Amino acid sequence: MGFISLGCPKNLVDSEVMMGLLDRAGARLTAKPEDAEILVVNTCSFIDTAKQESVDTILEMARHKTEGRARKLIVAGCLVERYREEIQKNIPEVDAVIGTGELESILAAAGIETTPGNAAPSPFTILTSRQAEVRSGKEAEAGTHRSRAGSDGVRAGNQDSPKGRAEGQHREAQGRFRRDAWRGASHLLPSYLYDENTPRLLSTPRASAYIKIAEGCDHPCSFCIIPNLRGKFRSRRFESVVAEAEQLVARGVREITLIGQDTTCYGEDLGLRDGLATLLDALARIEGLRWLRFLYAYPNRITGRLLDTMARHDNICKYLDLPLQHASPDVLKGMKRGAGAEIFLGTLGKVRAAVPGIALRTSFIVGFPGESLRDVLVLQEFIKEAKFDWLGVFSYSDEEGSGAHALNGKLPRRTIESRRQRLMKLQQSISRKTKQSWVGREVTLLAEGECAETPLLWEGRSQFHAPEIDGKVYISDFGPLEKLEAGRFYRAEIIEAHDYDLVARIVSAES
Ligand code: SF4
Repeated sequence: MGFISLGCPKNLVDSEVMMGLLDRAGARLTAKPEDAEILVVNTCSFIDTAKQESVDTILEMARHKTEGRARKLIVAGCLVERYREEIQKNIPEVDAVIGTGELESILAAAGIETTPGNAAPSPFTILTSRQAEVRSGKEAEAGTHRSRAGSDGVRAGNQDSPKGRAEGQHREAQGRFRRDAWRGASHLLPSYLYDENTPRLLSTPRASAYIKIAEGCDHPCSFCIIPNLRGKFRSRRFESVVAEAEQLVARGVREITLIGQDTTCYGEDLGLRDGLATLLDALARIEGLRWLRFLYAYPNRITGRLLDTMARHDNICKYLDLPLQHASPDVLKGMKRGAGAEIFLGTLGKVRAAVPGIALRTSFIVGFPGESLRDVLVLQEFIKEAKFDWLGVFSYSDEEGSGAHALNGKLPRRTIESRRQRLMKLQQSISRKTKQSWVGREVTLLAEGECAETPLLWEGRSQFHAPEIDGKVYISDFGPLEKLEAGRFYRAEIIEAHDYDLVARIVSAES
C-alpha cells in the first residue's frame, strides 16, 4: 500500500505537499500497493469515527510491512498531534510519525538525504492513490498525480512566518490550545505554513485544485479540538496565495477552491481588512481561472464587501459554505458560537439579496450536551425556513480535550442518531422539491469523467456544486457531441431531478 490521505481537503493539501517533497527528491510514485516500499498514512482525528478509520487504515497498512514488501510505515497528520507516543508504543510497525507542522520531515522519515535543488536518486516507490481508490482496489487514474512542483529549488518551509493575532493570544491565555488532557501528545503547537515555492503533487481531478490560504483556528467552539491539533490561526502571505493560484492556472487548473479552518478570517493576522474579499478580488482577475470558490465561512464574518465581491465577478462561484452547527440560541451558547435562528435568517436574507441565485451549504451538529427536544424543534423549523441547497447533519462526538467534554447532559447515542436521521429526512424532502425546480434550466458544467458505477453516464458539476461534497450531475446525453473530455466546460440542460442529484443533456461545448 502507500500514500493514503484521510479526512478533509485541508489534510489532502498536506498530503499533496508531502508527496510533492518526495517527488522532488526523486521518489517514484505508484498506485500499486504491492509495489510500494514505503507507506504513508496521513490521518484524521477530528471525531471518534475519523480516529477509528485512521487506526484501522494504519493497521491495514502495517500488514503490508509484516507480510508484503513494504519496509517502512510512516504515520502523519492529526492523529499524531494527539497520540504521538501511543502510536509509537502500541503499533511497533510504525517507523516514524510526522505532525501537521512537520511536513518537511517526510524526507528524513523516508530516509532520503537531499539538498535543495539536488534531487536524490529514486530509492523507493510510494502509492499515491487516495483511500477510496485504494479501498475499491481501483488504480489511480492516469494523470491524477501530475507533478506541479515549482522547479526553482527553493526550500519548502516557513516562507510565510506565522504572526500573532489578538484573538489568538487571548484564546491562548484562556487555555484554548492546551493539550494537558491528552497523554502522549506532542507539547508543541504546529506553526508550519506552505508557500508558493513548496512543491505540491495534485491528487484532485485535472482541472481543479485546492489552495490552503490559512491554517489553525482561534475560535472557541466548545465541541471542537481542531485548534488543539492545528494550532493558532495564521494566514499565508497574500502574494504567496496569488502566486500559487497563477502557477496552478498556468498549468491548466480552471477551478480553485480556497480552504482553511475559517477562510473568512483570512488576513486578520496580516493587518488586512476584509482580507478574503481583497484576496478574491485579486484571484478573480487571473486570466483563465473559470471558477473560484471558498469553503468554511464563519457566519458573523460575512461582510457586505465579501458579498459585493462575490456578486461582481462572474468567475466567483455563486456558492457559500456556511457551517452554522445549530440554530437554537441555547445550544449555540453552549457551543460558544452565539447567535441563533433569527440572526442566521437575517444573514441568509442578506446573502441571497446580494448574490441572487446563490447556492447555500451548511452543516449542523445534533446531540450536543443538554440539547432538548425544544432545541431540535427550533433547528427543524429553521431548516424548513432557510431551505439550504446542501446540508449535512453530524452526530455530536464527545472529544476529550474539548470544552464540551466536561459538560453535563450527555445524550444517549440512540437519541442522537434518531435526531440526526429525522433532520436528514426533512432536508431530503426540501431538497427533492428544490432540485425539481432545476429541470429545464441551462447551466455550465465541468465534466469530471465517466461515472464510477456505469460507463453509460458521465459526471459533472455546476458552479453550485463544490468538489466532492455536494450532489452530482449525471450526464446521460452528449447532445450534438460525439464524446466529452474530462476537465472541460460544457453548456447543459437539466432534464431530470432526484432527491439530491440531477441529470443533464449537453447542449454545446464551451471554449
Ligand atoms: S471555527 Fe469552530 S468548529 Fe471550525 S475549526 Fe474553528 S473551533 Fe473548530
